[in-house]
Amino acid sequence: MMIITCPWCGPRNETEFHYGGEAGVAYPADPGVLSDEEWGRFLFVRSNPKGVLHERWSHNAGCRRWFSVHRDTVTHEVGPAR
Ligand SMILES: [Zn+2]
Repeated sequence: MMIITCPWCGPRNETEFHYGGEAGVAYPADPGVLSDEEWGRFLFVRSNPKGVLHERWSHNAGCRRWFSVHRDTVTHEVGPAR
């Protein structure tokens, strides 16, 4: 079980949150020119590191706000975005 600290509500059980995926994935500047392969890469391919990952989370059962954290994918230690 993970404890995630919402910047507005404080530490809460992970069951109150919804995972939003990797943070910092930029929307294509000119999406009309992307090939199907490039679209597929934008939609489905993420870094998936063994270690620290910058993620988006939503506090669905609380304030319902989105925020970023860093989570270690090995230890599940969660900390504020850097
Ligand atoms: Zn909250």
